[in-house]
Amino acid sequence: MRIPLVDLKAQYDTIRGEVDAAIQQVLDQGQFILGPEVQAFEEEIADYCGTKFALGVASGTDALRLALLACGVGPADEVITTPFTFVATAETIIQCGATPIFVDINPKTYNIDPTQIKEKITSRTKVILPVHLYGQAVDMDPILELARKYDFKVIEDCAQALGAEYKGKKVGSIGNAGCLSFFPTKTLGAYGDGGMVVTNEPKIAETVNLLRKHGANTSYYYLLPGFNSRLDALQAAILRIKLKHLDRWIESRRAKAALYEQLLREIDGIKPLSVEEFGKPSFTYYTICLKDSGLNRNKLREHLESRGIQTMVYYPLSLHLQEAYGGLGYKQGDFPQSELAQSQVLSLPMYPELGEERIREVVASIKNFIRNSKSLRC
Ligand SMILES: *Cc1c(COP(=O)(O)O)cnc(C)c1O
Repeated sequence: MRIPLVDLKAQYDTIRGEVDAAIQQVLDQGQFILGPEVQAFEEEIADYCGTKFALGVASGTDALRLALLACGVGPADEVITTPFTFVATAETIIQCGATPIFVDINPKTYNIDPTQIKEKITSRTKVILPVHLYGQAVDMDPILELARKYDFKVIEDCAQALGAEYKGKKVGSIGNAGCLSFFPTKTLGAYGDGGMVVTNEPKIAETVNLLRKHGANTSYYYLLPGFNSRLDALQAAILRIKLKHLDRWIESRRAKAALYEQLLREIDGIKPLSVEEFGKPSFTYYTICLKDSGLNRNKLREHLESRGIQTMVYYPLSLHLQEAYGGLGYKQGDFPQSELAQSQVLSLPMYPELGEERIREVVASIKNFIRNSKSLRC
């Protein structure tokens, strides 16, 4: 039995009729970029997240870049973020001409550790960019307090966390702006690229709206230099269908995570992700940690792969150690928790249609591996 990390085909099979009809309707309408379908989707997402505005853009990466620019980030500015994230978080800061300033993670959640932020704040700090990794909210209150005190803005990277909550609020509605990704494997995935900026602030919404269409207010009159970064109507139509199922899918992910957790808890050497009581994760990825138990992650992955079980490491090398970011001047040892995490985390199959018996098989295979590697060691 093949157990993939995510199964997009299984999801499509459950909504095929609705999706096919929505695609056909866009083809019949003939409006393909922005337009009524995108606008309707934006209103639905704003409503879902609890924000006043939502602006569809070409990708989650562009959502970050445009939100940073709309918050005034430019050369000589610093943006504080985590090194244990997808590259887009840091790369977009650099695209704005600014410098990413990394802060280590909390080893329980793999999210930025708010207690270490204050010492990194300088007069150049413009924005703090927390990432809700794996679908679990960052502890936002201490960050909002720093933002008020030192007068910088907060942009949430919600690419992995649409639908996750922090103290009863949806992520994306907590800081000055939130950035969503509709990359196919995210919780709300398009059949192509897509992203969105959500915000309560008219100024940020207006600027993102201009930036995404070449800076144009009305056609061919440009108020500022912008980009081509718009959401397609086809993707919006597909995402509108999927959004109707999103809460049910997230509930299903939560139930699967609870089962994983219950089964994994008994296994020595494996630690499931800690769920903080202030939030409700969306479990975009289900990630475990191989504690300092001498278990070999590569061997475990090979063992699971040989049984048809796909796994992934998000992420194998913290951004501060990446060749591309050598110029930032960080070195091995600067962020010990991120460096530990990169060698210990492992994400297991997780999608709403994943059957309970398959979860039991994944866990049984992990148990089996541990039993064998223990007997090898004695
Ligand atoms: C996926 C992802 C992004 C980028 O989204 P794209 O839509 O792929 O451009 C940004 N940040 C994080 C944390 C992500 O996981």
